[in-house]
Amino acid sequence: PAATTSAASTATRFPISHDPISDIVKTKNFIDNEFTDSNAVEWFEVHDPATNNLVTRVPQTTDKELHAAVLSAEKAFPAWRATSIITRQQILFRFVYLIRTHWDRLAASITLEQGKTFKDAKGDVLRGLQVAETACGITTQLTGELLEVAKDMETRTYREPLGVVAAICPFNFPAMIPLWSIPIATVTGNCLVLKPSERDPGAALILAELAREAGFPKGVLNIIHGGKKTVNFLLEQQSIRAISFVGSNSAGEYIYSRGSANGKRVQANLGAKNHAVILPDADKQHTLNAVVGAAFGAAGQRCMALSVLIMVGETKEWLPNLVESAKGLVVTGGFEKVCDVGPVVNVASKERIEDIIKSAQEENASILLDGRNYKVSKYPNGNFVGPTVITNVTTDMRCYKEEIFGPVLVCLAVSSLEEAIQLVNRNEYGNGVAVFTQSGPAASYFQKNIEAGQVGINVPIPVPLPMFSFSGNKKSIAGGGANTFYGKPGLNFYTQTKTVTSLWRSENTDTGKQVVMPSH
Ligand code: NAD
Repeated sequence: PAATTSAASTATRFPISHDPISDIVKTKNFIDNEFTDSNAVEWFEVHDPATNNLVTRVPQTTDKELHAAVLSAEKAFPAWRATSIITRQQILFRFVYLIRTHWDRLAASITLEQGKTFKDAKGDVLRGLQVAETACGITTQLTGELLEVAKDMETRTYREPLGVVAAICPFNFPAMIPLWSIPIATVTGNCLVLKPSERDPGAALILAELAREAGFPKGVLNIIHGGKKTVNFLLEQQSIRAISFVGSNSAGEYIYSRGSANGKRVQANLGAKNHAVILPDADKQHTLNAVVGAAFGAAGQRCMALSVLIMVGETKEWLPNLVESAKGLVVTGGFEKVCDVGPVVNVASKERIEDIIKSAQEENASILLDGRNYKVSKYPNGNFVGPTVITNVTTDMRCYKEEIFGPVLVCLAVSSLEEAIQLVNRNEYGNGVAVFTQSGPAASYFQKNIEAGQVGINVPIPVPLPMFSFSGNKKSIAGGGANTFYGKPGLNFYTQTKTVTSLWRSENTDTGKQVVMPSH
């Protein structure tokens, strides 16, 4: 878009000449390949988490505008599905190239609106870009099956697009999670209506601009904004055949049940409470570095953050070292050259996290490192929570039961690997888990007996690369995890199988009327 037409322009200018007042723009929708103003009466404010200066206002898009977006996708579908797979692949190649060339710009938008460090924001973009790059292999990934099942008769399968599909995204990965949907949904021939988080829509808009530049025809990708009202609208649209959701349990369980009841395919990745289990034979330095990075990186706002530490046997003696290491992290604005932990996304989030720390204190846990009321002199108005370590935690405490989604590590001690496994498996979430050990048999036993979608062995954040699939277990995924994101299941989610059985007789034989069930 022109330099002044979208929230993306804020990101373009930032941080070169960012003025929090004159740069305030109203975030636009992206419908029919155009950035359009909304006539909304209700707006969400996005504040820079490091300063709380207003960055942009995001519309609660009107029903008329939402209809226009869905109609645009509906109209685009017949021609897009008829577009050759090679042409779609070429567009995706250009999209991938453009994401790479706009990498810093995307990351700057993320740091500005979401707060994570610039380097971490670059990782956010990269992990999404990898999904897009892998989707470029669509020409071999989408081949069907074929078998001659009888003389002159063959059965073959096709994977066909669904039609119009929608994606609803969370705030914590403003580029990666839209990119779990955009490349796969579109390269398989669907038209996508995507709703970014109303808390940080900038990266999705930049991606839309790049998609247009890459050659996506109008209507293939539409971006619409808003909160629950927009979600409800999407859930009620008959032409929307599938919904991808990533976010919290409260929203996701609702979206899964209402979407499914309305006959849609729904994939929904939900909340987490990821445990790290340390066995006494673990490499101490590697383990402490890994746990500190995974507990406090991105200010704990990753669905794969390690937020619970299970110390087996004497590893509880490592706590003072862990606390020292956590104290050494630099907490400041995400654009600072040296920054390990940025602010959390908004004031409400900071208050919620601090309230959970308070509850732990009230429930007689011990706060070994307290990140409440954390002050960063250069950013006096930022939403900072310092790294927090809580010990003497029991499983009935609020700090153990709830997903905190902040830089808070709760620590429990157990005496054996078996006890650790049982504790992890009793937790209602099952997103990620990590074990630290130098014993192959112990790791193997852990891997077989643990209930989690992603398991790391001496790897703190085992987010699978896109040739695999990001799954989940128990309460971390809706619908029992039948529909997972990217990889082969991701392709399956965005396509439906058609199985064709054909007969081309090589000789004229009259087989007569077949009134029994054909058995070929
Ligand atoms: P959220 O559920 O608040 O918001 C996600 C999306 O749902 C947003 O687009 C939002 O507008 C919409 N939404 C919010 N409340 C809604 C409601 N009541 N009804 C309908 N729609 C609603 O989540 P968030 O705070 O943006 O993201 C953090 C959460 O996402 C954490 O729980 C985290 O664990 C989870 N997450 C999970 C994964 C995963 O793959 N398992 C990945 C990233 C984030």
